[in-house]
Amino acid sequence: MSEGSEGSVLVVNSGSSSIKFQLVHPDTGKSSASGLIERIGEPEGRIVYHHRTGLAERHVHIADHRAGLKMVSDIVAEVGRPLREAGIVAVGHRIVHGGDVFYEPTIIDDAVVQSISDLSALAPLHNPANVIGIEVAREELPDIPHVAVFDTAFFHTLPAEASTYAIDRTVAQEHAIRRYGFHGTSHQYVSGRAAEFLGRDLSELNQIVLHLGNGASASAIRGGLAIDTSMGLTPLEGLVMGTRSGDVDPGVILHLHRSGMGVDQIDDLLNRHSGLKGLSGVNDFRALLALVGEGDEDAALAYDVYVHRLRKYIGAYLVELGGVDVITFTGGVGENNVDVRRDSLAGLGRLGIVVDDDRNRADSRDARRISADESDVQVLVVPTNEEFAIARAAVELVGV
Ligand code: ADP
Repeated sequence: MSEGSEGSVLVVNSGSSSIKFQLVHPDTGKSSASGLIERIGEPEGRIVYHHRTGLAERHVHIADHRAGLKMVSDIVAEVGRPLREAGIVAVGHRIVHGGDVFYEPTIIDDAVVQSISDLSALAPLHNPANVIGIEVAREELPDIPHVAVFDTAFFHTLPAEASTYAIDRTVAQEHAIRRYGFHGTSHQYVSGRAAEFLGRDLSELNQIVLHLGNGASASAIRGGLAIDTSMGLTPLEGLVMGTRSGDVDPGVILHLHRSGMGVDQIDDLLNRHSGLKGLSGVNDFRALLALVGEGDEDAALAYDVYVHRLRKYIGAYLVELGGVDVITFTGGVGENNVDVRRDSLAGLGRLGIVVDDDRNRADSRDARRISADESDVQVLVVPTNEEFAIARAAVELVGV
């Protein structure tokens, strides 16, 4: 284990109340330590991490992000060598919002930290937490390059007609309102892997990627460049998600506000009490399917709304791309759920899309094809690996 971390990148994903980390080798993707520190600031925090023989879980108070990152350091030392002696070559930070400023992985210095902080108005929950993660990690590992990898960067190539909201131009400019897109690291990684899997050049493929996790987003990719995506100014737009509504008529917000709901209440409603949870009471897809199996009508409707929205985006992107070569499912739901994959592409034979039932059911963790031989469109399942993608991007940039 101790030699295992030599040449690795420490990937840090510092969220509003959690820190996810992984020590990952940029060539092999092999992970020598990983874990999740959550419920930071709550009376009882939770730490889960992998060690030699399995998974460990502890419950302790974690005062703040500083204390959380100190725990990362302790865990790395416990499973291998102390952090500063673990042979780490770079630290890769997942940053949610790069705004109109950052389109590429970027070496972090004080000015970059300030710019990420300045973008907080666009991602008030995420960017401040990202900044704290950077600050503490730079203190812990001051002699190693730190790299910021932005969730929005891959969507920098959206054409203006896809990134522009049809609202007053002056207001939009004043408030930096446009469609930015999120989950970009995953969409880029998965579309690259899909091309590799098919043995095709990225530049010759029209792709749709469906990233279905707790958060969910779809993208249309032509020749390796994103031309549309379902998330917008914030990660609230688009598909139905675990707790997020996805698309609603903006009039709903006005109506609720005029009916007496404050803006924070509406924010809470749409981000944390909507989506599958709002419709069925549960946000976890497995729990939803269990309820559907028991004949719960709310859960059945939630499932149908989820699939209906997904089909709507697939249809839109098929037309935008003028035909598609490959549709790829990824994320916890996309990688594991047979029903969503079947139902979201059902009855599309006349569009050249046919999912093979047995292939769809095959139990595998690897990238795989689930379309039938006669399907013109290749339908794939490709596990995402954002940590690996961030590690590779960091090392490419710092050139170690
Ligand atoms: P995040 O967006 O937090 O990274 P994930 O990509 O891990 O989330 O996806 C989490 C979702 O995947 C949850 O709704 C979970 O229920 C679902 N999921 C995980 N495994 C399965 C499975 N075997 N069958 C159906 N859904 C699954």
